[in-house]
Amino acid sequence: MNRQDYRREAHRAADWSADYLETVESLPVRPSLAPGAVAARLPAAPPEEAEPMDAIFADLDAVIVPGMTHWQHPRFFAYFPANSSPPSVIAETITATIAAQCMLWQTSPAATELETRVLDWLRGMIGLPDGFHGVIQDSASGATLAALLAAREKALSGGGNRDGLAAHAPVRVYASAHAHSSIDKAVRIAGIGDANLVRVPVAGPRFAMDTAALEAAILADRAAGLVPAAIVACLGGTSVGACDDVAAVADVAERHGLYLHVDAAWAGSAMICPEFRGFMAGAERADSLVLNPHKWLFTNFDLSAHYVKDPAALTDALSLKPDYLRTLGADGQVDYSDWSVPLGRRFRALKLWFVIRAYGVARLREMIRAHVRLAEEIAGWIADAPDFELVTPPMLSLFSFRYAPAGASDLDALNARLIERINADGRIYLTQTRHEGRFVIRFQVGQTTTERRHVAEAWAVIREIAHGLEAG
Ligand code: PLP
Repeated sequence: MNRQDYRREAHRAADWSADYLETVESLPVRPSLAPGAVAARLPAAPPEEAEPMDAIFADLDAVIVPGMTHWQHPRFFAYFPANSSPPSVIAETITATIAAQCMLWQTSPAATELETRVLDWLRGMIGLPDGFHGVIQDSASGATLAALLAAREKALSGGGNRDGLAAHAPVRVYASAHAHSSIDKAVRIAGIGDANLVRVPVAGPRFAMDTAALEAAILADRAAGLVPAAIVACLGGTSVGACDDVAAVADVAERHGLYLHVDAAWAGSAMICPEFRGFMAGAERADSLVLNPHKWLFTNFDLSAHYVKDPAALTDALSLKPDYLRTLGADGQVDYSDWSVPLGRRFRALKLWFVIRAYGVARLREMIRAHVRLAEEIAGWIADAPDFELVTPPMLSLFSFRYAPAGASDLDALNARLIERINADGRIYLTQTRHEGRFVIRFQVGQTTTERRHVAEAWAVIREIAHGLEAG
């Protein structure tokens, strides 16, 4: 593709992108396709000769788009959001154009220095005090893995990396029963093992870790010769938004010298609104915290903000500097690849910089507040409906409910049928969880373009399909 062609096709892509965002609302949120339907329309072998861009764009529209789940759809209420915004998309295009490998300061000084500055902005925006240093990780899973590797090495005085884990007593990690599966995965990858992830029971209206049980588990483990190393506090759990009392967890961590990592992957973005910061009280005492602007801060996937108090704990665990990666003549600069598992790094800071500047913090706060208000509104309608039950009230913009008409016997099966029908219908998209043994439907509001009318439509669709179930 020559430069002239590139300019023409890039304009076409920009128009395509604007058209997509204008029309996505008219598409089903989730396609109703049999597995393999898209693959069946893709040639088994690559083309030997160049194909025209017209043909490629035509297949994009004919084959790919109808097979997508549209995460930027205003009636997407499933999982957690992975919201985006035009300034973020524009910055991603620029990142892709520059295509820099930002592993070291010298491989793109502006990328490193912008990352430091923009994460410092975000730190202030969420009310985390000075003394935390930010790094962009690819995902909350990656941040939690890096944090647990740092905690493991701290607890073993570097012995895990030096000797291998077999030379040491088992390392123990503690998290609530509501903590995300990324903690389980990190524990596996860090060689700590499933058996050494202690799931602490929860209590109270926020499903918070029972800190007495946490402390008892740590004491028992230490008495048994095990090595308690880290606690992962949950700030906005994926199932129903569980929230640990981070200050109480920090008391335990400090008493017993454990590393405290806070997983605020979803809820962390809402901390830009001062009125929600009560949820994170105590987080300033943690060793590290992760939040995902790629979930709820209008910034394209992938961008996880990982804050650490002691960067040396991360770099001691993760930094390796063979001769070919040394920066001659500029020692002492931050090389963010020393702070994470992968060596290679995209220029991710650019999109967050664009987003924060293009909206301003006040507008970002308003957008988050609007989501929380909409979630509270529809949760109120559901709570007032006699044949529905609000199972967990809104934690920020997430709540759960189920259909519970009088006389229905198997509510789990009924609600499984309901959500299947809703998602096959395509007007809205919802996902489920199990809460205290019951099958429940989750509802979260977090899409950039979601308005009250979309939420009202969702409630109408839920009622229409639920009432139709009785007809068979
Ligand atoms: N933690 C929580 C609470 C989450 O909800 C999620 C994903 O939904 C994760 C961690 C993992 O996030 P990521 O996809 O960035 O690894």
